Formats: sequence, C-alpha cells, structure tokens
Amino acid sequence: MPKTYQLVVIGAGPGGLCAAITAASLGLDVVVLDEQPSPGGQIYRGISQTPDDRSALLGADYQRGADLVAAFKASGAQYWPQTTVWSLNSRREIGILRQGRASIIQAERVIVASGAMERPVPFLGWTLPGVMNAGAAQILLKTAGVVPAQGTVIAGTGPLPLLVAWQYLRAGVKVKAVLELSPGTNLWRAAPYLPGALVAGDYISRGLKYTLDLNKGGVPIYYGVSRLQARGNDRIEAVEYGWDILGSDRRETIITDSLLVHFGVIPRTNLTKAAGCQHIWDRGQQCWRPQVDRWGNTNVPGIAVIGDNAGIGGARSAEHSGRLAALEAARSWHLISTQQRDRQAHNDLKWLRKDLRVRPFLEALYRLPDSLLVPPDDEILVCRCEEISAGQIRQAVREEHGDPNQVKFYLRCGMGPCQGRQCAPAVAQIVAAENKRPVADYTTFRVRPPIRTLTIAQLANLESSES
Ligand SMILES: Cc1cc2nc3c(=O)[nH]c(=O)nc-3n(C[C@H](O)[C@H](O)[C@H](O)COP(=O)(O)OP(=O)(O)OC[C@H]3O[C@@H](n4cnc5c(N)ncnc54)[C@H](O)[C@@H]3O)c2cc1C
Repeated sequence: MPKTYQLVVIGAGPGGLCAAITAASLGLDVVVLDEQPSPGGQIYRGISQTPDDRSALLGADYQRGADLVAAFKASGAQYWPQTTVWSLNSRREIGILRQGRASIIQAERVIVASGAMERPVPFLGWTLPGVMNAGAAQILLKTAGVVPAQGTVIAGTGPLPLLVAWQYLRAGVKVKAVLELSPGTNLWRAAPYLPGALVAGDYISRGLKYTLDLNKGGVPIYYGVSRLQARGNDRIEAVEYGWDILGSDRRETIITDSLLVHFGVIPRTNLTKAAGCQHIWDRGQQCWRPQVDRWGNTNVPGIAVIGDNAGIGGARSAEHSGRLAALEAARSWHLISTQQRDRQAHNDLKWLRKDLRVRPFLEALYRLPDSLLVPPDDEILVCRCEEISAGQIRQAVREEHGDPNQVKFYLRCGMGPCQGRQCAPAVAQIVAAENKRPVADYTTFRVRPPIRTLTIAQLANLESSES
C-alpha cells in the first residue's frame, strides 16, 4: 500500500505554511509538498534566497514573508520542495513527482493550499513572444532579478499591475505606460464598498501610494482603456488600444518589445475538481471556486481547501484560513476539543472577517466587462495548446455542442499540455454567451489526472502499490 501520512499540505504559500506551523505545534505529523525550490508561495517567492537589496526593492509586503518562512523551518513540519502534485482523488491518494520519480502517497487528511493563477484572458496577439503575464514577470524579478531590459507596457486590471509597475520603477526599469482596462463606471459600483475597504487595513492607502509614486516617476497611467491588441510578426512590436477621452474613442499605439498583462487571479481548481470537490460560481470574483465551510472543509471527507485556492482573499486571509484548517484537523484527531478549537480560532475568524472587507470594493472596482471575458474577435486563439480559435468554438456551439465539455471532445480544446488551465474560463464564457445563458449554468472542463505533464517513463515506473 502507498505510504500513509497523517496530514499532507499541498502548497507552501502563506496559507500552507500557517496550516503546517499550527498543525505541527498541535502534535500532528505534517508533510508540506510544493513544486517550488523554496517556501513562500507566490507573494513571498524565493524570500529565503533573495539578496537583501532586491528584497528591499520589492517592498515591505514582500519582506514580511521572511519571518513566516523562518517560523515554518523551525516548526518541525516535513518539507518536500520541488515536488509536483499531479493527482489527488477522493480517497486522498496523492500522485507526486519528486526528483524525477512519480509515486503515490496516501494522506489521512489533506489541506489543499495550491493558491491562485493569473486569469487567462485571450486577446488579439496574446500568444506573440514578448507578451507575458505581469505576475510571471514579477516572479522573474523576485527569483532571478530578471527584468525587461528595453522597458515594458503593463496592461490589465487589478492591484497587481500597479504593484509590478511600482517595483519596476524602483528597479530602474522603464515602464512606458500602465493601461487600466476596467471600465470607468466600475468606480461608481465600487464606491458604496469603500468604507468597508478602509477598515480592512492599509490596502487603499498602499494603492494610492503606488499611484502617486508612479506619477512622480513619470509613468503614465491611462484609465478607461479598451480593445487591447499586441501587434507584430515573429514577436510583439507594438501595443494598440482604444482610449475613450470625453466620448471620443481614440486608437493609440505604443512601440514596445514587451507587454505584461494581468486580469486578476482565480483559484487553481484542477486538483480539487479531480478530487470530486463541489465547486460554485462566485459572482463577485467571476470564477469557480471550491465550496468550503469556515474550516476549509469540502464535501469530500478529509479534504480541506484554504487560502486563494478556496477563493481570492490575499496573503493575510490565506494565513488565517490555514490556521483554521489546522485547528480543525487537530480537532478531528481529538488532539484538541471542539471548545478549544473554537477558542483558538476566535482571533483568526475576527481578523479574517475584517481583512475580507476589502474584497467587495476590489471586486467591483476591477470587475471585468464581457468584452474581456468573452473574446470578441473570431480569430483570437483561445486554446493555445491545440490552436483553437474563438470562432471555431462559436461554430461548435452553433452545431449543437452546447456545453464546455462537448466543445472539448469535439475540438480538443483543453486537451493539450496545460490541460485547459489557459482556455477553460474563456471556453465556458463563449459557450454561455452563444447560448445567451449565465456562465454559472455551466461547469468548466472535467479534470482528470495527470493534471501536470508526466512522461510515459515516469508513469510506467510509478512507485506504487495495488492503487
Ligand atoms: C503570479 C502571482 C503573483 C502574485 N504577486 C503578489 C504580490 O506581489 N503581492 C501580493 O500581495 N499578492 C500577490 N499575489 C497574490 C498572493 O500571492 C496570494 O494572495 C497569496 O500568496 C495566497 O497565498 P496561498 O497560500 O493561498 O497561495 P500561494 O502563495 O499561491 O501558494 C501556493 C503554492 O502552491 C504551490 N503549488 C501549486 N500547485 C501545485 C502543484 N500541483 N504541486 C505542487 N505545488 C503546487 C505553488 O508552487 C505555491 O508555492 C500574486 C498571485 C499570483 C498568482
């Protein structure tokens, strides 16, 4: 039989680290798996190896991760870096790839903390070399100090484009423009949530500081931008966009060999879907997420989901939810009583409620319009792996393949190496729009293992047992 572990945490971001620290302190035998070489997750990527000057440049929010990682290292939890999870099922059997070898381990309890991914939004030219996600570019800065040498344009929605532009400014990288693609009318929709956002913490003041610093640094920020397009032959040569100034719709061009885009983040749901966890459509966040209770429990016994994986809440909320899931795990083994769990959870629940008050404001302010969610032009490539366009998907729906999974079987979109991670949201949006129904009426692609690429040799040599 596969080797059994008491508690396996998938993901060493702030959520997974806090879960592991708390669980280990309560006497649980914990193993943390993460595909990265060092702990910290997305926000604190590479924190234990980043040189001091680069760490200072990335700002106080990044540096905050150093204490968390130090506490994790001292916690006694086992840590398996460079370990990719390629499968999770409802019996809590976990397929892992470690040091080139695939194997299956068994967990009595699993906390899935695999975080979020940048929302893929297909637009004209998004597959050209030189166009990449802003978060991915930020990872290059955090882990390797690599930046776009000839400068860049940053386009999209959400707080991350501002943060990346601010970090680049401090690193001496020329940011030619920040293009904000959320509609101006969002401001009015967000206004009623501002008082709640202000009590949540310093989120708004930090956003204002980044904006002011960018203004002082001469970085132009254009609001109300639409119809983004990357142009070029073998690689990006220019960015084109529409800009509505006082009712006159202008078309502008910026010459650049680099465009960084970001349209918010969405939970990584491939593991939880493969495990059979129930998912719901989150109207505010415009994405599917696993349905969980306050302790992270899903409908699948022994599988909890925390942090951004359970719905976007940011790093602080991920920490609180990690501790709550660990307390619940300890309660389930009678290491603490229900009353002790509830008492110890009191502060986390309080801070979580406070911290999450910023979300309705951010969700309204950065709400994506249909023109971004549903690729408007037929020639836009939606599935990059199988090279399927928006037009082909529309045609398939018109031919009665009226559900994302039917479209997948018919066209193979979502069957390539990324296993639908890049196209699933857009395919569901196109199907819903063609059928004139809300996207919540559909499910995205069914997910089957392996959710990450494995070679035939790795599978054939699977270190396993009957299972
Ligand atoms: C690209 C990106 C950049 C971001 N940058 C910032 C930022 O600068 N500032 C900020 O405030 N917020 C940032 N965010 C948001 C922030 O990262 C999250 O709110 C926060 O990190 C959530 O913590 P978490 O523990 O839930 O997940 P994460 O921090 O995302 O940690 C998840 C971990 O799971 C691991 N993992 C995922 N899938 C697997 C798998 N199959 N096998 C093994 N390991 C796996 C990942 O390697 C990662 O270490 C960013 C998000 C993204 C996606």
